[in-house]
Amino acid sequence: MEFHKSLIHNSPYPVALYIHIPFCVKKCFYCDFYSVRYSRDLAQIIIEEILKELHFFFHTGKHIRTIYIGGGTPSCLDPDIFEKLLKGIVSLNPASAREWTVEANPESLGREFILLCRRYYVTRLSIGIQSTEDSLLKVLGRKTTFSDIERSAELLNQYWDGELNVDLITGIPGQSQKIMQRDIDFCLKAFHPGHISLYSLTIEEGTELGKQIREKRFILPSPETGESLWFEGYRILESNKLFNYEISNFSKRGKESLHNIRYWRLNPYIGIGPGAVSTLPGEKEPVIRMTHPEDIELYIKSSDNFWGMTYETIDAKTFLFETCMMGFRLKKGIQKQEFMTRFGLSLPALVPVLWEKWEKNGWANQDQSTYRLSKKGRLMLNTLLAELSEAIKNRREKVMIIQWPGYDEGAGHIIF
Ligand code: SF4
Repeated sequence: MEFHKSLIHNSPYPVALYIHIPFCVKKCFYCDFYSVRYSRDLAQIIIEEILKELHFFFHTGKHIRTIYIGGGTPSCLDPDIFEKLLKGIVSLNPASAREWTVEANPESLGREFILLCRRYYVTRLSIGIQSTEDSLLKVLGRKTTFSDIERSAELLNQYWDGELNVDLITGIPGQSQKIMQRDIDFCLKAFHPGHISLYSLTIEEGTELGKQIREKRFILPSPETGESLWFEGYRILESNKLFNYEISNFSKRGKESLHNIRYWRLNPYIGIGPGAVSTLPGEKEPVIRMTHPEDIELYIKSSDNFWGMTYETIDAKTFLFETCMMGFRLKKGIQKQEFMTRFGLSLPALVPVLWEKWEKNGWANQDQSTYRLSKKGRLMLNTLLAELSEAIKNRREKVMIIQWPGYDEGAGHIIF
């Protein structure tokens, strides 16, 4: 599996770097991200491995455009362990990165954590609030309470001067419109975020909340109520100048998440740590995907065998579908030039009948530089994606990946 090494060292290209911290203080009932209960001993070993992996992929950080430390809960790491991770990243000198985000939860967000983020050039914190109502936080199985949220807001106001995102959820059983308004109002006033992610609660298979709902211990709002709650959230956020730029994401002008935009544009990314995924140009194949096991023990045990990563080749038709699936999430849609560089043909040329139907029905449109879904089209995204998948599958002529990544929005300015 020597290909791993040559990927980034032989033919450098810009990447987004994601590091997965697989620990939480407690598992939330709705969550299907990979994490286990925090243990200091295990965290020391894992961070050691993550740093080994990081230095395996990178001899220098000059190709890194964005950094994101997520999980899991990075803020539950003991400060000395967290500092070791930050130091390891900074030792690569990722001076061309444009953004560095770290996720945190209110109950484990401490002064020391914030000061470490500042000292090591983190530019953006993302705080998992979800709701400010204790009874709803209980339904979600969150460790956080409203008083944790208040305390974290005070700390951030005192010690943090970088960018800030707040995560909120709508459609929680028992969440009225009034509660949701209170959630948003409180977050706007207490945190002054430049970015808010407003997710609709989805029930994932195998989660505790899914089980409780099946057992009728909680009742989900009807799809209509869920939708109207989310739209009310949309209205409040936009009236506060946080503009919807992706299905679930709102930001002030210029405060969009650059790291996530790289995902939505399907630019290359490297994921490090248990459960993390990478999508990169391969040595022979244009696109490969590497996946780490969602298994801490296997990750550690496979240290000498690429941390247990498996890899697959992404064929051109799948890559075309993924490019659209991710790109149509953005209000701005898909960049025509980037698309043309990637596939050598325009989107209407690749799926002519379907594109014409979408345009006629007012579900999609194009201007000089983008293909995008209309507001109506984005509301029926899943239906449109199913149609697109069918059209790509049935296309008789070959689809080819001409050049990828082939695009770079330029280096940034992390302040080294
Ligand atoms: S804190 Fe976040 S990652 Fe951890 S269990 Fe809860 S939702 Fe999942």
